[in-house]
Amino acid sequence: PQSRGEGTGNLPVAREGYRIELADGSIHSSDAVIVAAASYHAANLLGDLDRELASLLGEIEYASSALVVTGHRLADVAHPLNAFGLVVPQRERRKILAVSFSSRKFPDRAPDGSVLLRTFVGGALQPELFNLSDTELVSLVLAELADIFGVCGEPELARVYRYPRAMPQYHVGHLDRVARIEALAARHPGLALAGNAYRGVGVPDVIQYAESAAGRLLDIGCH
Ligand SMILES: Cc1cc2nc3c(=O)[nH]c(=O)nc-3n(C[C@H](O)[C@H](O)[C@H](O)COP(=O)(O)OP(=O)(O)OC[C@H]3O[C@@H](n4cnc5c(N)ncnc54)[C@H](O)[C@@H]3O)c2cc1C
Repeated sequence: PQSRGEGTGNLPVAREGYRIELADGSIHSSDAVIVAAASYHAANLLGDLDRELASLLGEIEYASSALVVTGHRLADVAHPLNAFGLVVPQRERRKILAVSFSSRKFPDRAPDGSVLLRTFVGGALQPELFNLSDTELVSLVLAELADIFGVCGEPELARVYRYPRAMPQYHVGHLDRVARIEALAARHPGLALAGNAYRGVGVPDVIQYAESAAGRLLDIGCH
């Protein structure tokens, strides 16, 4: 999606640094750039600068997942929900990947006497489920929640959020590819990469990787 400040897919390097062209037509110069978009977007942005780097970035596969958020009266849930959630192994042959008990993890996510659940559907192993309609996704999730936790009755709320190509897949060989990507990126002074495509998908890993990218650029004098 086009958003304010979004790069236009072109990141040419100038002798004195990088020229960044934004979607609003403005052009900015910088001696350092951290490309923190998904690796397939980074591939587009960096194609003119380094074709080999862009090609490797484009090789990282992504999966899509849908998130179905439902609110329920505790009286409608047989299970005590005395945990933070669950991850479903493939051998269970269910149509959901995981459930996060949001209101058990964080305060103020649901009124007293209710619970907020986030259920993940799709992913790399069941990509076809990502394309179901909102109504189909909600009913699939309610059926699974009824079976696993004894959730009954109508939910107090039900919303569907979709995350297309949001989860990079760390296949065998991923770390070797990332090492090659990092080595190629390091050939361009002032260029660094960040994001979940490289060395960790969880938010803490993404933050740590971004901080070390920023630290490297500061160390080599890019201020
Ligand atoms: C459904 C779901 C649930 C998750 N739940 C958890 C969780 O509970 N705990 C946890 O630790 N992790 C969770 N994760 C993983 C974690 O949230 C992500 O891995 C992490 O947020 C990704 O951060 P990022 O900065 O790499 O990508 P993003 O947050 O997607 O940021 C990339 C940014 O790049 C921008 N962009 C793209 N192209 C351009 C361009 N041309 N110019 C400028 N900007 C551009 C995009 O607009 C976007 O804002 C979840 C992921 C998903 C999909």
